[in-house]
Amino acid sequence: MANEGLAGGGPTFSLDPRDVSRETLDPYSGLSGDTDSPLAMELLATERKRRELESATFERPAKTRVIAVSNQKGGVGKTTTSVNVAAALAQRGLNVLVIDADPQGNASTALGVEHHTGTPSIYEVLLDDAPIASVARKSPGLESLWCVPATIDLAGADIELVSVVRREYRLYDAVRELLAGSGRDLDYVFVDCPPSLGLLTLNAMVVATEVLIPIQCEYYALEGLTQLMKTVEMVRKHLNPAISVSTIVLTMYDARTNLARDVAAEVRRHFPNQTLEQTIPRSVRVSEAPSFAQTVITHDPHSSGAVAYVAVAREISQRMTGGTA
Ligand code: ADP
Ligand code: MG
Repeated sequence: MANEGLAGGGPTFSLDPRDVSRETLDPYSGLSGDTDSPLAMELLATERKRRELESATFERPAKTRVIAVSNQKGGVGKTTTSVNVAAALAQRGLNVLVIDADPQGNASTALGVEHHTGTPSIYEVLLDDAPIASVARKSPGLESLWCVPATIDLAGADIELVSVVRREYRLYDAVRELLAGSGRDLDYVFVDCPPSLGLLTLNAMVVATEVLIPIQCEYYALEGLTQLMKTVEMVRKHLNPAISVSTIVLTMYDARTNLARDVAAEVRRHFPNQTLEQTIPRSVRVSEAPSFAQTVITHDPHSSGAVAYVAVAREISQRMTGGTA
């Protein structure tokens, strides 16, 4: 089916995706020869999807959707998913804020926002009552994309928060204040959580109405998920009745391995309503983008990773679950 209309005398091309020019990839121009090699098919499918998404509309939610991106496992794609979904939505004109709640400050790096020690950050919001509006910075890559940076100072916050009044509600109070004032036009707020279920993550789950869980399609993927679900349930019962796991994104997915396919099937079996159809492929472009202080959405919008993240953003925007999930 994917071969339809592709026969005929177009140019042949090298199979290294980095060597393939955008023009050569035009799926409608007619490609010849080895277009049915797996890689060529993949490239064509990506370009087709990119074009289809180009004309897709991304509706504004009726009210701001606050989404905690969480998984206590490290390295599963929380930060990558936060910044790239946020960038994809902002690129379509939606107003988006990313709150970096991980002392590593990786989201701040990817969004090109300073986060050296001493930079006004989420730490001052949580521990010194600084308004979010005073510490948020615009991401240089895109209009309408903002970031509250995290510095390494945040590393002590999980412990420092313990003795603070309303310790679970610090972020809630700050975000509510923002949304009632200068942030009233925000469509999405993403909180990029650290790899733990401590007070920082709890603060994120108390203000969010949705939890987005990135799951890396590897052997231990489901381990720890029960714990995460229990935490969400505990927050729902005692702190925030509006919270639920609305979305699961399968990251670093390699369709060629049985393991990835098995893990994906298992996740879909457990969470049929939450797991997005679109998966995120493993892609060098995605992993190198932060070293250019960019998201892959601006770094290489034609790459398979960028296209996949735009598709994920569209799926999320189509599921207007905010507030009622
Ligand atoms: P977390 O925030 O959960 O710790 P990250 O988003 O930082 O995870 O991702 C962990 C590592 O995996 C990073 O080095 C990141 O660049 C890389 N990575 C994430 N998603 C992809 C992907 N789709 N393709 C390739 N590398 C990825
Ligand atoms: Mg991270």
